[in-house]
Parts: sequence; C-alpha cells; structure tokens
Amino acid sequence: MKSNILIIEDEAKIARFVELELSHEGYVCDKAEDGRKGLEMAESGAYDLVLLDIMLPELNGLEVLRRLRKTNDVPVIVLTARDAVMDKVSGLDMGADDYVTKPFAIEELLARIRLALRRGGASKTKEDLLVCGSLSLSVPRHEVRWDGSEIDLTSREFSLLQTLLENKNVVLSRDSLLEKVWGYDYMGETNVVDVYVRYLRNKIAAAGGENVIQTVRGVGYVIRDEHE
Ligand code: CA
Repeated sequence: MKSNILIIEDEAKIARFVELELSHEGYVCDKAEDGRKGLEMAESGAYDLVLLDIMLPELNGLEVLRRLRKTNDVPVIVLTARDAVMDKVSGLDMGADDYVTKPFAIEELLARIRLALRRGGASKTKEDLLVCGSLSLSVPRHEVRWDGSEIDLTSREFSLLQTLLENKNVVLSRDSLLEKVWGYDYMGETNVVDVYVRYLRNKIAAAGGENVIQTVRGVGYVIRDEHE
C-alpha cells in the first residue's frame, strides 16, 4: 500500500530533492510547479497527502488550500518560509493539517508526513461497523462479536483488528501494522505484531470463531473476505 503524495512547489531544486527522498521511502510522488496545476491535481482525489508551498506562481498556496477544502479533505502539509508566522496561522485556519518551516530537515518532514497520513487514514474511517463473515466490529460501541457473541479485547487488540478489517483483502506488513497500531515512533520488538495476532486468534477461537487472520509468509497479515 504505497501512499501517493503530491508535491506542489515551484522551486525545482526543493521539489526534486523532496521527491527523491520520498521515493526512497517508498512513496509515489507527483509534482506540480504552480498553484493552478497543483489545485487541479489535488482535486482529482488521487493523492493520500499534499505538500503545499505557500509562495507559488499562478495561485498562492493559501488560495489553493481554500479552494481545495471545498471539495476535498486530503491531508495537507504546508511548507512555509521561516518566520512566516501569518502563513502558518492562515494555513492551519484554512484546514492544513500541519506545517513545516523551510529550510527543513528531511527527517522532520518524513515524520510529519507519517503522522498526517496516519491521522488522515483514521479520519477516513467512516464505516461504523466493519464486518467479515460472522465477525463484526463496531467502532463507536468498541465491540467485537462472532455470530453475535461478544469477544472481549484489549484496546490494542481492538485497534489491530480494526486496522486489519479496514484494510480487508490488503496484505499489511508487520512494519505497516506497527506504524498504524503502535505508532511510527514505537521502539520495541517488531514481533509484538505476531504476539498480538496470536492473542486475537485465540480470543476469536475461544468465542467459537474461525481463524480470519491469514499469515502471508515473509510479508505480514491479511483478513480476506471470501464473499467480496
Ligand atoms: Ca515557492
């Protein structure tokens, strides 16, 4: 599951540098060098995240953001010049998710991108009830059931199961599950994912359920819905 990122930046050197770094991290990038083209591309809905420079030809970044927010809630990180306090404030007011001050350290930008993608992914959770066969998970009630009988899960087990169900039929790597469920700054053992998958399987089995979480050897885990 590679995230698509749109870079709207008129300074070719910066755009190219960011594109290279992001590609290296496994993101798929497109670039727009002016505000008008950037807005058009962002409105297409093809992107998981937009990096938006403020000082842009054709249409400035704040105007791009204002127009984009009428139709689209894609996460936006604003790139502002140092000391451009007003740009930060206006950007956040207009619905930017975060900002990074230029010149920025690439590590900071990457961290903010991961954070915004995670929040964006979470806010896109519009489905209240996630279902796979006899297994159902109610997000607002924080309840998991197999054929109607409730399964008692810890909050971590719940969010792991929720993440797998939200990405039904998509194989999630251990790293990606760690990032989504434990947070990108998690410093512990990566086998914590395997441990929690085992807990989940045991609890579902104890409720009389079948094993719905499949191991994809060397990759990660997936919940497949045979009926879809
Ligand atoms: Ca600029």
